[in-house]
Amino acid sequence: MAGLVIANWKMHGSLELIAEFSKEWRALPRLTDVNAVLCPPAPYLASVSGALEGVALGAQNCADRIEGAFTGEVSVQMLSDLGCGYVIIGHSERRALYNETDAQVAVKAQLAIAQGLQAVVCVGETLAHRDADQQDKVVTEQLLRSLAEVPCENLVVAYEPVWAIGTGRTATPAQAEAMHGVIRECLQGHFGEAGAGIPVIYGGSVKPENAGVLFECDNIDGALVGGASLNANSFWQIASAASAGRA
Ligand code: PEP
Repeated sequence: MAGLVIANWKMHGSLELIAEFSKEWRALPRLTDVNAVLCPPAPYLASVSGALEGVALGAQNCADRIEGAFTGEVSVQMLSDLGCGYVIIGHSERRALYNETDAQVAVKAQLAIAQGLQAVVCVGETLAHRDADQQDKVVTEQLLRSLAEVPCENLVVAYEPVWAIGTGRTATPAQAEAMHGVIRECLQGHFGEAGAGIPVIYGGSVKPENAGVLFECDNIDGALVGGASLNANSFWQIASAASAGRA
């Protein structure tokens, strides 16, 4: 399968950044064997849509309802209308700061997939869980609860250890590969053989300097990139490393 590299701009960016990023991206060689996705803040989805050749559009979140009186929410149908192919669901920041539960994550993933979007379901342990050597149990339980009634078609799993997000502290390739193996086994146990085809990507301070070694790991199919994705050249280098890792 081609590598998958997803840029999560979080609540960063502006029309100026989009223009600058697009200009720089156009000057870089076109990549093969990698699916690159950019998830800007929701107000900029329309501006990014179609602006970057070879880059699909994604959203950072979606509502857990189809439509109605839910002020401030954005439905999967709206994301689809704007050209999104992907939506990040259950990012640790949404779980920790907005109390998003595994049950809500599962509903959002069901809605996204029914709408034809690729649902990127995020899971990961805290530092306290890692220090207590509880990471395998915590992540598999969180994953199974987050996938309740979720079909495996158009599903992507992002493993993001909470302690490695935005901290500059990356999981070692061995730590990441071990957890991706645990997740893959869990997906196969849950979905049967079809679970083997679900991309499992890594997120947590991925940068051009560490992307290559991560993508050499058998069970790492790509990356969810925060800070380093705000610069076109560094996101391109990470995508390029993912493409080389699949060769
Ligand atoms: C993320 O936003 O999902 C992320 C992994 O951020 P960073 O790359 O900045 O750690």
